[in-house]
Amino acid sequence: MLKLGIIGQPLTHSLSPVLHATLMHLLKVDGEYRKYELKPQELDKAIASFARDGLRGLNVTIPHKVAVMPLMDALSPEAELAGAVNTIVFEQDGSRKKGHNTDIAGFIRSLPDRFTDRAAEENVLVLGAGGSARAVLTGLIQLGIASITFAVRDPQKAVPLLSHAEVIKQAYQANTKTATVSLFSLPSLESFTGLINTTPIGMWPEDGQSPLTPIQLETLPAGALVYDLIYRPTETRLLQDAKALGLHPVNGLDMLLYQGVCSFELWHGQPVPPNVIPPVRAQLLQSLSKDVS
Ligand code: NAP
Repeated sequence: MLKLGIIGQPLTHSLSPVLHATLMHLLKVDGEYRKYELKPQELDKAIASFARDGLRGLNVTIPHKVAVMPLMDALSPEAELAGAVNTIVFEQDGSRKKGHNTDIAGFIRSLPDRFTDRAAEENVLVLGAGGSARAVLTGLIQLGIASITFAVRDPQKAVPLLSHAEVIKQAYQANTKTATVSLFSLPSLESFTGLINTTPIGMWPEDGQSPLTPIQLETLPAGALVYDLIYRPTETRLLQDAKALGLHPVNGLDMLLYQGVCSFELWHGQPVPPNVIPPVRAQLLQSLSKDVS
């Protein structure tokens, strides 16, 4: 039996149990995926007991993504570069714990082909410089994007991210240019072919807000990608405005879905067939609709 779970706090609204239960059902895998709400001080002992209890793997979410790193026996290159672990694989019957980061691969797999196909020509504006911005940065550099500009309310906070970008560029031998601007004095967006919101502005229950005005959005070139990492609600104000302007809106549901798929592939040891993706997405959408009604 494939014993899986998620650690974090709180986990009340986590969609991961639905995602993995659906994957196991569709792939006819005998297994379980449980939620384990843990306080930071419980982490060490809990990880050791999961290893003893025969767990194959865990997802790791807020607030433990960084704290679990020193508890691992090994880290994947992505986890090291992102500075965070969202997936643990218990190897060799639990005697070895390896930390992975599937947020990066999940983000990359969620991007539209028409964006990734011309990665070397894409100039991306990323709003925010927190935890998810790190995964986005790593993914974009891995893809060989031309330039990434972070728009933040406090430019000082982006300094560690920008210096870390140099390490990531070296790892992938990428020529991506990186810069920071103030969110409050954004220039015209005409030079950006993509915009990615990694701030929580627009997230349920504070939906209705947008990090940018329609007047600012209107300066993006025709057909530009407007990607909001938020998936609750599925269509934020930013995405509604982007749609109304004929831009290319994408929400964060596929990033969530594909990070889960990548985690499952690590635990199960086999690729998830593409025909399984649409029913899993449908199940997630159904859960989200129940969640907010
Ligand atoms: P985080 O580490 O707290 O970072 C949030 C960033 O947004 C920080 O740079 C923060 O700036 C900025 N920010 C917050 N409130 C702001 C405001 N009112 N105005 C301007 N900037 C603001 O959070 P995170 O973990 O990166 O998550 C961010 C969002 O991504 C959340 O909505 C989360 O649900 C979503 N997410 C989605 C996925 C997915 O799979 N789709 C995965 C991860 C995260 P300061 O440092 O100045 O506070």
